[in-house]
Amino acid sequence: MASETEYCDNLFQYHRRKTRVIHVGEVPVGGDNPIRVQSMTIADTMNTKATVEEVIQLVEVGCEIVRITAPSINEAENLKNIKTELINHGIHVPLVADIHFTPNAALVAADYVEKVRINPGNYADKKKFEQYEYTDTEYLQELERIEEKFKPLVLKCKSLGRAMRIGTNHGSLSDRIMNRYGDTPEGMVESALEFVRICEKYDYHEIILSMKSSNPLVAIQAYRLLAARMAKLGMDYPFHLGVTEAGDGEEGRVKSAVGIGSLLEDGIGDTIRVSLTEDSVAEVPVAFKLVEKYNSLKENMTVQNISTNRKPLRRPNPFEYERRQTLTCDQVYYRLSGDNLPRVELSLAASLSDTSIAVDEISEFFRKRSSDPLQLVSGTNGKESFECETIHVSVRSREELQQFAELKKTAFKRALWLPFAVDFSQIADSAFEVAKAADRLVFSPRSNSDLAELVSAAKMFGRPVEWKIKPANFGAIENTLKFILQTCEELDYWNILFSLSSDHNILRNYRYLAGRLDALEAAFPVLLRYSADNDLESTILDASSQLGSLLCDGIGDSIHIDANLPADDLLRLSYNILQATRVRISKTDYISCPSCGRTLFDLQTTTERIKSKTDHLKGVKIAIMGCIVNGPGEMADADFGYVGAGPQKVNLFIGKECVQRNIPEEEADRRLIELIKSDGKWVEP
Ligand code: SF4
Repeated sequence: MASETEYCDNLFQYHRRKTRVIHVGEVPVGGDNPIRVQSMTIADTMNTKATVEEVIQLVEVGCEIVRITAPSINEAENLKNIKTELINHGIHVPLVADIHFTPNAALVAADYVEKVRINPGNYADKKKFEQYEYTDTEYLQELERIEEKFKPLVLKCKSLGRAMRIGTNHGSLSDRIMNRYGDTPEGMVESALEFVRICEKYDYHEIILSMKSSNPLVAIQAYRLLAARMAKLGMDYPFHLGVTEAGDGEEGRVKSAVGIGSLLEDGIGDTIRVSLTEDSVAEVPVAFKLVEKYNSLKENMTVQNISTNRKPLRRPNPFEYERRQTLTCDQVYYRLSGDNLPRVELSLAASLSDTSIAVDEISEFFRKRSSDPLQLVSGTNGKESFECETIHVSVRSREELQQFAELKKTAFKRALWLPFAVDFSQIADSAFEVAKAADRLVFSPRSNSDLAELVSAAKMFGRPVEWKIKPANFGAIENTLKFILQTCEELDYWNILFSLSSDHNILRNYRYLAGRLDALEAAFPVLLRYSADNDLESTILDASSQLGSLLCDGIGDSIHIDANLPADDLLRLSYNILQATRVRISKTDYISCPSCGRTLFDLQTTTERIKSKTDHLKGVKIAIMGCIVNGPGEMADADFGYVGAGPQKVNLFIGKECVQRNIPEEEADRRLIELIKSDGKWVEP
């Protein structure tokens, strides 16, 4: 059983969190059941035909639970017609009514659908974005007021056998919670617990919980904290996972996978929704791809012993971000350490035997942006430019070593000033020759390797050494580490970093490596290597889940994704993962809602249009939200907000403050840009 500070049973081995089973209609969620996939319709709920058609399309692509918005009693009443029509079509998929601000609508909806989703931030509170002071007595009175409003729904769901999701959203917490806990994961957890306690008081337990945020890091911390708190309180309710307002395309998939995948890796999550600003049917295959791995994982696959006779591993705080502090590793052009941005590295795909093809590959993706050799740019894609900051090359023979030296000379002559990391593990006796030509020595030691010559060579030429350990098991990592550190100590050379041989299951091994390094007080930088032999979408989802989990825990000073995909895809993915985990911001950040029946404009085209005008504003966060009811609350920490206020009308926000109301849609883009300019965040494209 996890303790207050532990959110899962074992950080080093996959275990699904133990939960009770909740029946959403005929679909059991939690326990040993597969992780369920759900989505939400975007058609107007009052348009029965369109909503029914959309539900049917979702069912056809495998969606197991469908949510429909019910903003008022009218929509809640129309769920009856939608349900009847679906049954007439032979469709029995469980429906969920999505409720915000309208307890009356929830009570009506419960008559017709299998589950009701409420948002504890706005079920009984009108969010006013004001800060109130609450004394303990006032706080208790507030809780009594909530109970009064919520109790009828609890009793109704209990008597009708309906399930309920208590779905907290970061950014739409009540003033009461904000006052006491702030806009924090703790506040999100407490917001849900207030409602859970009322359910339990009336002996109602058909509850699923969620802790969504548009910031994957906040979502991860909130779900972890909820799991830990539930374990301590002896509660075992299943979790619905999601990242809100993730956006579209690759960015939407990366954000979702970082948030949802990281949690699934730790066995947390019983049903998921991938919220994309795309047609709802597009969400379902992505969600299935994401859960596939975990639905087929068997518990206790490989039991690895964590030795107990050594200092315990140092583990990051799972509820609060803190970058792992490390010593510095210096390499030509930049340094790696906990004080510097995580870097992006790639492997050279071309063979070393053909210098001209290899140089062409480098020059194609690694173009020089200015005469400053520190400004190394590659993969320019429209307005986005991504830098590859080190090229990895393997040399397996002396002949290849010569070819590499030739390649480096040619690249240098063509002003392609890039550091080369050279893996020479297969020609261990060539350390001095490699050190002369390479900018970093990469080596995988074996038990009988003589490391003294290698370290001497690195020291003589002032090169960093990347120790690439084969992670056969945790014991192997531990023994190799000891052996390396001993040699470095003997020769007093510490310009080093660590990595593990590429693999697609990297999370636990890297957790172990970082934890063991820290426990040994050997705080050296770590390069995260991920490799996969998969299609682009599977690589996006799995790499984002695993690298995302590590980066959100502050582990990783550089990342290297190795896959049989074009270099610009790998670069873009690397930077998207760094952006989603917020450890390195390289472009504009968009928070766009997935749209639903409340949406007041075409969210996909609006998002595309705004992106095309603002995607050069590095680091600026812009929210594009479909409605004024939930939009402002759910755009979390956006700098600017573009929110549907009525038909063809838009409200503009700076932070959480609405600064322009009811602007005609055709003027809204221009006014948004003026607003960004007046706030000093605009730069000319
Ligand atoms: S913000 Fe978007 S998804 Fe959320 S309720 Fe409004 S329109 Fe629907």
